[in-house]
Amino acid sequence: MKYDVIIVGAGPGGIFSAYELMKKKPELKVAVFEKGYSLEKRKCPIDGDKVKSCIKCKSCAIMSGFGGAGAFSDGKYNITNDFGGTLYEYIGKEKAIALMKYVDEINCAYGGAKTRMYSTTDTKFKKICMQNKLQLLDASVRHLGTDINYIVLENLLADLKEKVDFYFNTPVNSIEKLEDEYKVVYENGEAECSECIISVGRSGSKWMESVCSDLDIPTKSNRVDIGVRVELPAVIFSHLTDELYESKIVYRTQKFEDKVRTFCMNPYGIVVNENTNGIITVNGHSFEDPTKRTENTNFALLVAKHFSEPFKDSNGYGESIAKLSNMLGGGVIVQRFGDLVRGRRSNENRIKESTVRPTLAATPGDLSLVLPKRILDGIIEMIYALDKVAPGTANDDTLLYGVEVKFYNMEVELDNNLETKHKGLYVIGDGSGITHSLSHASASGIYVADYIAGNI
Ligand SMILES: Cc1cc2nc3c(=O)[nH]c(=O)nc-3n(C[C@H](O)[C@H](O)[C@H](O)COP(=O)(O)OP(=O)(O)OC[C@H]3O[C@@H](n4cnc5c(N)ncnc54)[C@H](O)[C@@H]3O)c2cc1C
Repeated sequence: MKYDVIIVGAGPGGIFSAYELMKKKPELKVAVFEKGYSLEKRKCPIDGDKVKSCIKCKSCAIMSGFGGAGAFSDGKYNITNDFGGTLYEYIGKEKAIALMKYVDEINCAYGGAKTRMYSTTDTKFKKICMQNKLQLLDASVRHLGTDINYIVLENLLADLKEKVDFYFNTPVNSIEKLEDEYKVVYENGEAECSECIISVGRSGSKWMESVCSDLDIPTKSNRVDIGVRVELPAVIFSHLTDELYESKIVYRTQKFEDKVRTFCMNPYGIVVNENTNGIITVNGHSFEDPTKRTENTNFALLVAKHFSEPFKDSNGYGESIAKLSNMLGGGVIVQRFGDLVRGRRSNENRIKESTVRPTLAATPGDLSLVLPKRILDGIIEMIYALDKVAPGTANDDTLLYGVEVKFYNMEVELDNNLETKHKGLYVIGDGSGITHSLSHASASGIYVADYIAGNI
């Protein structure tokens, strides 16, 4: 069990580093260890019939396995330095964009060529947003959709399997530093390598903390984003989504001057549950295939919370809020906007009478019992601000699902090669705390693979 390079985690970060190593140095012996299943075996047991809610599988099929957290995602690859991570701080803005474009070329070559690329360049909505105290962020976005994203992953796996050894269902327990090499220890064995790339994403955040503590690698953490997922008739946002697909809009609240932003927009999509370390939060998907489309659009409204000393556990704070919604609703809570502003809970009847048909079976309830006032006030202000550029957003029947939490991994101290203080040990993707998106995570994988290929 000796390898030149071992990659821990088969999410976009791990996949694209394996891909690049295969292309640039096919003679290298490369292995990928992944705690989840191979792509075809990834099946969430929730079928809405026998299994209605999360049964907390040992390895969550939605978050883990080949494709990582992105496998059943909407497959929106945003090419931008404005959001999705701070990779550019390490490798420079031009390089970061060039790598994201390269990732896009690979996605197209592996099945995504017929999908559409959207862009904010020259859009009239920038001005309209500005006139309404909203800021539209710059980006180009390739929307693969959940369906085509899966096909791209299938094709990549078929190619990679020829050259790379995959160990699925094999969580790595620890990494030990030997004199010039690393020992990767898993349940039934161990393997050695001269270069080790860790790409364990958000689901591996706790494990990443233990690795950093064992190997004395400095880290810092202070941010969590908390909010709701908004669902409304697709026609209300169609003038924006038809042209831009996803619009990242930022609003600074009048009351507290907090920033609220739209996140992960899914035109004609569905709202879904997400399981992070056993806590049920909410997310969204959409499909490229027109036959799978719904009548609704959904997106998140998030408020970033930055903490200062002495508080360090920002993710713990987010988890506690999500747990509160799980405690009250047994999972995700849904509320009509009209009920929220009138200070009353939504119930089955009010949801049934609503003109917006929910795409997720969530428990009708009262989000004001879950979300801190400052966050909730910010979200309500933003909904009224969005109503000016997309009239109807603040309708009584607009649905709010809570809570949506965006956890950030603690930031691992890395140099400009994304290498830790230990030579040959790299941390990439969302597990590094530097990236928070498919394109940034993938680009970080390519970057490190190129660096290693040049060194070996
Ligand atoms: C529902 C959903 C929708 C999303 N939609 C989008 C989107 O449209 N656009 C976008 O840009 N981003 C989206 N994201 C975020 C995106 O998926 C992530 O930013 C991206 O997957 C990060 O890639 P990664 O490789 O760093 O980590 P991950 O994709 O999380 O992959 C890490 C892998 O490491 C494995 N692992 C963890 N610990 C261990 C261990 N100890 N041993 C072995 N393996 C381990 C995990 O099982 C996992 O498969 C979405 C996320 C979710 C959950």
